[in-house]
Amino acid sequence: MPVGKADDAEGATEEDFMAWKASLFTMFRRNLGLEEIEIKYTPTFTVVKDPSLDIIDIHHGEPSHPSDNMKTAAACSPIRALTVQKSKEIFNSAERNCLRMDLDLSEHPDLHYKTGDHLAVWPMNPEAEVQVLLKALGRFNERDVPITIKSLDPTVKVKIQTPTTTSALVRYYLEICAPVSCETILNLAYFAPTAEAKTYLLSLGQDKDVYTDFLTRNYLAMGRILSLASPGSSWTALPVSYLIEYLPHLRPRYYSISSTSVISPRQPSIAALVAKTPLLNAPTQSILGLTSNYLLFLSNTLPTSNTHTGEPPYQPPGPSERLEGGKIFAHIRKSKFKLPSLASRPLVMIATGTGLAPFMALLAERKKLMGIGRPVGEMILFFGCRNPAEDYIYRAELEEMEKLFGGKLRLVTAFSRVSRESRVYTQDRIVERSKTVLGLVEEGANICICGRANIAKDVERAISEAMIARKG
Ligand SMILES: Cc1cc2nc3c(=O)[nH]c(=O)nc-3n(C[C@H](O)[C@H](O)[C@H](O)COP(=O)(O)OP(=O)(O)OC[C@H]3O[C@@H](n4cnc5c(N)ncnc54)[C@H](O)[C@@H]3O)c2cc1C
Repeated sequence: MPVGKADDAEGATEEDFMAWKASLFTMFRRNLGLEEIEIKYTPTFTVVKDPSLDIIDIHHGEPSHPSDNMKTAAACSPIRALTVQKSKEIFNSAERNCLRMDLDLSEHPDLHYKTGDHLAVWPMNPEAEVQVLLKALGRFNERDVPITIKSLDPTVKVKIQTPTTTSALVRYYLEICAPVSCETILNLAYFAPTAEAKTYLLSLGQDKDVYTDFLTRNYLAMGRILSLASPGSSWTALPVSYLIEYLPHLRPRYYSISSTSVISPRQPSIAALVAKTPLLNAPTQSILGLTSNYLLFLSNTLPTSNTHTGEPPYQPPGPSERLEGGKIFAHIRKSKFKLPSLASRPLVMIATGTGLAPFMALLAERKKLMGIGRPVGEMILFFGCRNPAEDYIYRAELEEMEKLFGGKLRLVTAFSRVSRESRVYTQDRIVERSKTVLGLVEEGANICICGRANIAKDVERAISEAMIARKG
């Protein structure tokens, strides 16, 4: 039996594992005469309806930090409902758009941020997905009946707020829009309400190529797969405990704060790229990122907005109407990204896309210090994006800063999609300016990188090569 291998860069490790497992099981059956049996689902949790519970004892969807993680608790502020003070699209192209959003901390004296920290936004699931799932489960009519979740295994804690309701569970506590893996599809077949639904799921989940092809044409989420497999009958045999065990619990998404606490201590700003992924073989349909599209919706419903599209719809007042007036649940997380505290230290900054955000904060802070006569170190900022006409965020502010710093700041841009012939990346610009970069490093400059996950490697390689070329 050959060793199974998967390439995570293709994002199909789980499917590769499933394909390898299937061939292993075939070998077990054929060579060892073993028989495969269907394993019965054994729940870890029990979910009990309890209409007698008092409404004030029920969790209606307010988020909470995991109680068993002391490290998280130490790095995070309490979660609060924050007012979105201002929001605007800083670019909007056919494929992507980006929001700049200013939040208001003035009602929350217990919330503070430092330059470079992150804002964690707790999203909610779109109402259409919530309704599809509740109906597919056959639990629409009992969606607001209080439920209590208890663990059946003393070693496993219930991490969802309980007591709650099924509608709060699927709207606020579970990632019901997350991708549905091959393995989950096969597990669901066990609960299928009809023989046709079972056959449908098995034919989709058992063949990696069929599944992969299906994903190029369909946006797959839990409610969608249940109603596709069984459009006529509801999944009354699928226990709610199964969803709690197999769906990821809803988590906040992080956004780097682009303002500085020195200038705007009560008004953190973020730049959020709105995630839309068109389906490869059905490009008129897109998969919408949960939080960034929720923020886009809120931005479009602000009183100052003139784009009241209302799409995709959410339940804006939130649990117990806590989000009335377009608020969001959010907390501040201390950043591990350490910006140099000494303003006189030279600095090499490398950013792509919204990775520019923490550098905007740092530049604003240094500009303020320079204004009061404090020494400020020399800086070079390499910024990479696709096309200056499309996604060059903060362009006007950066060009203005470059002037105001009077030679202390050099701005170097790299555009990767201006034309097919000339694709320029930040690392190419670093190689071109290697003399300046190495000069600053020799003067004690910090090198700070923020952006795409693989940018650090490319930049590290470019700088090492420049050092080798210089020193031999
Ligand atoms: C420390 C840190 C700082 C960050 N700072 C910023 C920042 O300043 N600005 C910024 O814009 N982002 C930032 N991010 C990224 C941000 O946190 C989010 O990951 C990003 O906004 C996408 O979140 P989302 O909820 O919109 O998308 P998600 O719902 O999390 O989706 C993520 C991707 O998966 C795809 N997807 C979702 N559901 C499915 C499905 N069912 N099937 C197939 N594909 C699916 C989506 O199309 C999308 O491409 C930061 C991340 C970290 C960790």
